[in-house]
Amino acid sequence: MKITIVYDNEVKKGALKADWGFSALIEREKASPILFDTGSSGSILLHNMKELGIDPGDIATIVISHAHGDHTGGLSDILKKNGNAELYIPSSFHTNVTGRKITIVGEAIEIAENVFSTGELGNTEQSLALKVDKGIFVVAGCSHPGVGNILKAAAKFGKPHGIAGGFHGFRDFKILDELSLIYPCHCTQYKREIRNLFKDKVVECGAGLVIEL
Ligand SMILES: [Zn+2]
Ligand SMILES: [Zn+2]
Repeated sequence: MKITIVYDNEVKKGALKADWGFSALIEREKASPILFDTGSSGSILLHNMKELGIDPGDIATIVISHAHGDHTGGLSDILKKNGNAELYIPSSFHTNVTGRKITIVGEAIEIAENVFSTGELGNTEQSLALKVDKGIFVVAGCSHPGVGNILKAAAKFGKPHGIAGGFHGFRDFKILDELSLIYPCHCTQYKREIRNLFKDKVVECGAGLVIEL
């Protein structure tokens, strides 16, 4: 499985634009790509996709983590370039999108082979639990329900191995002991502290980063 960070507060590749928000593309062998979140701005999202060689029309599934504008802002622009993608949105996100299959996520659910939603936690946010060889890799938007609760929910599908995403104000750092790969992205307030504590397993995040799992 391969994850490409498409939208983030920081950039890893010069041609990409940094902006407050988050979006990641999840690619699996012989399966259609899944887009997780859409950043704040449609034009920046589409710019970064173009630079990364991602065709918006190829995306089969779009998952929205939660109803905040820095995760939903690019949705209408991407839908203009994609007539078919199915949506998986938490029940707290109210959208007027019509004309395509929309799954409202409450409980944990299988989205595609080896791709699960934790379900909507804390009535706000869903995260992805990806089943990879080494266990479960979590992709989170802002982690408003708490990183610990997200990892616990993801553990239903296997042993958590790593996480990428916004951790918001998370600072219960010992929870990360059990993981071997940590990518603090987007709104993570304590990036420096996490990097200092887990030097050998933290990788700096940014748009253009590719995570091969
Ligand atoms: Zn948020
Ligand atoms: Zn956010």
